[in-house]
Amino acid sequence: MANEIIPIVCGEETITEGSDGVGQSLDPATGKTIAEFARGGEREVDLAVKAARTAFDEGPWRKMRPFERGRILMKIGEVIMSRREEIARKEVADSGKPLRDAYWEVDCAARFFEFYGGHVDKMHGSSIPLGPDWSDWTVKEPIGVSLHIIPWNYPFQLIARGVAPALAAGCAVIIKPATDTPVTAWEFVKACQEAGLPSGLVNLVNGRGSVAGDLLARHRGVDQITFTGSVPTGERVMVAAASHAIPCAMELGGKSPQILFADADMDKVLPVIAGGFLTHCGQVCNAGTRLLVERSVHDEVVARLHRHISEITIGPGIEDPGMGPLINAGHRDEVERYYELAGKEGELLLGAETPSDARYAEGAFVRPALVVGAGNESRIAREEIFGPALTVIPFDGPEDAVRIANDSPFGLVAGVHTTNINAALSLGERLRAGQIWINSFAVGLDVEFPFGGYKLSGFGREKGLEALASYQQLKNICIHHPMPAA
Ligand code: NAP
Repeated sequence: MANEIIPIVCGEETITEGSDGVGQSLDPATGKTIAEFARGGEREVDLAVKAARTAFDEGPWRKMRPFERGRILMKIGEVIMSRREEIARKEVADSGKPLRDAYWEVDCAARFFEFYGGHVDKMHGSSIPLGPDWSDWTVKEPIGVSLHIIPWNYPFQLIARGVAPALAAGCAVIIKPATDTPVTAWEFVKACQEAGLPSGLVNLVNGRGSVAGDLLARHRGVDQITFTGSVPTGERVMVAAASHAIPCAMELGGKSPQILFADADMDKVLPVIAGGFLTHCGQVCNAGTRLLVERSVHDEVVARLHRHISEITIGPGIEDPGMGPLINAGHRDEVERYYELAGKEGELLLGAETPSDARYAEGAFVRPALVVGAGNESRIAREEIFGPALTVIPFDGPEDAVRIANDSPFGLVAGVHTTNINAALSLGERLRAGQIWINSFAVGLDVEFPFGGYKLSGFGREKGLEALASYQQLKNICIHHPMPAA
């Protein structure tokens, strides 16, 4: 990766000297620079929007037959899979995640292109009966230029999650990656080019959120925004979108509950629960970071989970350890401040030690943690830590479990672990979250069904056919056709 400056891509033009200078991306395991990237300012934002507008308004994309567009999307999926190893390794170096998670990202990105590529020629409208001499039908049209603002935790997968349905709908897109993880966004653009996607449909503006991100979100040439990130930034982006009255989809944070009943098969369930808060060092929007456990098994579950987190391996992502580093040293300090708070609000039980190898002395490693004895009203139980910490809270009966689970500012996902089908189904109905997982917690390549939040976790839906709605507008055509007079 060394020596290459990741460019800004505006249609055919690649710009390596951005007007906001050059940024560095660091390996979270070592703290060393692995890549440099051009940071966009007003000039590059204008160029990217112009390229996207031209591609949308005048380019070949909307003139093609839907099945032709679908073939190109599926080809993007194939190119991504053909580069699986290379992209995954770059993602590990840039984001710190264990190699297996990076493979998952690449596989999932390809699945989005297969899924939406296969649907491009099936985006039917409806016919509405109005009675004799009238015909009425709806047509789904692309919304235009769609801006994708991406966080650093799953950059490659999250770009594909939004861009694949946007392109399927007929839009042109601009991608604004996080400054911590610019590397695989460029690989994504190259894959689109190699697959033959017409120029200008996918544009890339790296740069600071407060500069390039804000300029893009306010730009009058942008017609829609898909934002994935934190609540405070999402609120700023909504204000920017309101400045020119465009819609946005908001995929924000979470503090998701996993509800564990005493009748669950603990040998099967506890590793699932642990995976729910340890994956990518807890830097997952839908991490299950509140464990609500039936009081009769609370102490046993805490002891077993403590043993589990004490035995996992921690190391650089490329060695595919149980857990890699956090994204950067600043975030590690934030997580450690939460650990201090946890010790005051309850009891902090730490797990495995961070690596002692001198090569990783500057790495953003942190130990996994359980927090017990802190109530659901504590900050540790309410705020998104974005680190490998699980707050364990006892409950007494299903009503109590639902009450505690729903008493959260967030509502992204929820898990229920029980062998009682009645409890599972009635909790599934009552939990206020966008996805409910029963006897599992995230299955893997789940691109087929919708994902999105209730409450502060956001609005709009990604994944599944539902995601297409963000990138389409519905036109109604109504004809009055009385029988001509004889
Ligand atoms: P973040 O700080 O909110 O940043 C997200 C993106 O917004 C980055 O590209 C950032 O650029 C950009 N940005 C910052 N200020 C901006 C502004 N004023 N205008 C426009 N864009 C701006 O979030 P993060 O720390 O990267 O990611 C962690 C958060 O993402 C967590 O809360 C997590 O739950 C959430 N998340 C949600 C989902 C979901 O699907 N619900 C998925 C993944 C992550 P810079 O990097 O340059 O600041």
